[in-house]
Amino acid sequence: MNYFVGIDIGSTAIKVAVVDEAGRLAGVHVTASGSLFHKNAKEALARLLTDLKLTRDDVRYLIATGYGRKLFKEADDSISEITANAIGAHEAGKAFGGVRTIINIGGQDSKAIQIDADGHVVNFAMNDKCAAGTGRFLDVAARNLEIDLEELGDYHFNSHSAPLAINSTCTVFAESEIIGLLASGHDKEAIVAGIHYSIAKRTVRLAKRVGIEDRVYFDGGPALNKGLVAAIEDELQRQLVVPEHPQTTTAFGAAILARNEYLAEQA
Ligand code: ADP
Repeated sequence: MNYFVGIDIGSTAIKVAVVDEAGRLAGVHVTASGSLFHKNAKEALARLLTDLKLTRDDVRYLIATGYGRKLFKEADDSISEITANAIGAHEAGKAFGGVRTIINIGGQDSKAIQIDADGHVVNFAMNDKCAAGTGRFLDVAARNLEIDLEELGDYHFNSHSAPLAINSTCTVFAESEIIGLLASGHDKEAIVAGIHYSIAKRTVRLAKRVGIEDRVYFDGGPALNKGLVAAIEDELQRQLVVPEHPQTTTAFGAAILARNEYLAEQA
């Protein structure tokens, strides 16, 4: 059987996805990008192939995407993360009746992408100037609050008071604001909800710049945080489609494109 790989070398995490010839997802693997992007990406690929009992010879075509894609010289091709995200969301979104708007929050940037019914990018907007609306902000905030990233969702839903306003647009100032709120005796729960709403407001402003059309697909690592999902849904006043593996949508899109390019060459 032939297999196809997408590797998304992100600012924070490396994501690998493998699909079979029918375009079905065979497996995914996520690991920290660290400082040695190329070495870590190679190891992540080897690890996933071993887990799936495959070898490099089973892989017919490999496409790299993401921030560090140019470093992965072994790839057969590379594409922008906007294109890969659009393909992945379009494919994964079919199970939900189709998606037309993508909100992606990554480690160091956030994006809104509008796609047409065939999954082609119509319009996109990106915010990489300020990390206060990104995963990095959540990482820093969780550290300040001394809670695990995975616990942010529970803290959000356990908040019994109104979410506290976090107004700083820069992570460093937002960090001081969080420390100030803790020093004033505020509950961690209300602070966490405030952080989520502050990211949600920024994200919705970005999405409005590209135009919001149903259905709206939310991906990237922070989409694993149910509290953030709820805050964005509240600000958007619509439900989000969150796939089973939100962090690996872009890698999945690159794998789907690898499969399509290979099959087109064979035809
Ligand atoms: P990039 O592509 O820029 O590397 P990702 O889409 O991989 O970014 O997202 C990385 C971010 O995802 C991290 O900064 C972190 O905030 C968030 N994240 C990762 N795993 C989880 C988790 N289990 N729960 C909540 N947030 C998570």
